[in-house]
Amino acid sequence: DRIARRQDREFAEFRKRLKDTEQFKLDDGAFDDATYAAVYKLVQDEHVGAMGGPISTGKEANVYEAHDAEGGDVAVKVYRINASNFKQMREYLEGDPRFEGIRGDKKAVVLSWTRKEFSNLQRAAAAGVRVPHPIAVQRNVLVMELIGQEGDAAPTLSDVNVENPETAYEVVREYVRRLYAAGLVHGDLSEYNIVVYDGELVVIDVGQAVTIHHPNSDDLLRRDCRNVANFFARQGADADPDELYDYVTSN
Ligand code: ADP
Ligand code: MN
Repeated sequence: DRIARRQDREFAEFRKRLKDTEQFKLDDGAFDDATYAAVYKLVQDEHVGAMGGPISTGKEANVYEAHDAEGGDVAVKVYRINASNFKQMREYLEGDPRFEGIRGDKKAVVLSWTRKEFSNLQRAAAAGVRVPHPIAVQRNVLVMELIGQEGDAAPTLSDVNVENPETAYEVVREYVRRLYAAGLVHGDLSEYNIVVYDGELVVIDVGQAVTIHHPNSDDLLRRDCRNVANFFARQGADADPDELYDYVTSN
């Protein structure tokens, strides 16, 4: 009918506008038609006003700066439907009661993965871990708080001089403990997935985080503890992987 036709036309115009934006020409691969439709829906729902340039282009996802409808800053993470490593991604959904019985194909896995990151952000925040505030999820597109400022996204812990490694280590220790107490293991925790902004440490990239029901959750936790403790030990803190693991898992 007429309304549907008008909506189709508006969507086509929106897609053309996005496609014509300089930064999207570079990585059109991440944006199939359904991804444009997802961004369009987020625009209609006023979670996104305008898309900006990429902050990061990764293997599984690209992260962009954007504005919401009021012109506030947000970060938009777009997962590739054609992720080359979707088989590994599928393994991270195993045993997770939230994603029981999902179809095993590429698309279903990537869509679940996106929802998993959104719900992990919610759960981490509720557990008192500083993460980007989750705003909306649509298909393979996640909208969250931008850590840092427009044109100046916060650096990762690997890119800054850690002025007080003992204090920073204490904070991260507490984050890992709280996550675990909330039933989550980050699974890719390191100096590359912690950003530093305004005196705060912010944990990011929680898409792969698994619940403690996952068959490998214990190995993943040990690896997280190793990455974190070894990093802070290199910075001069008194940090040990086994001690961290014991601290996180006791009580
Ligand atoms: P990947 O799976 O590609 O590692 P990440 O979630 O770690 O995805 O994001 C990639 C990079 O994008 C991060 O290292 C960080 O620099 C930036 N980034 C991600 N989320 C945000 C955010 N909410 N605010 C600011 N920068 C972010
Ligand atoms: Mn990352």
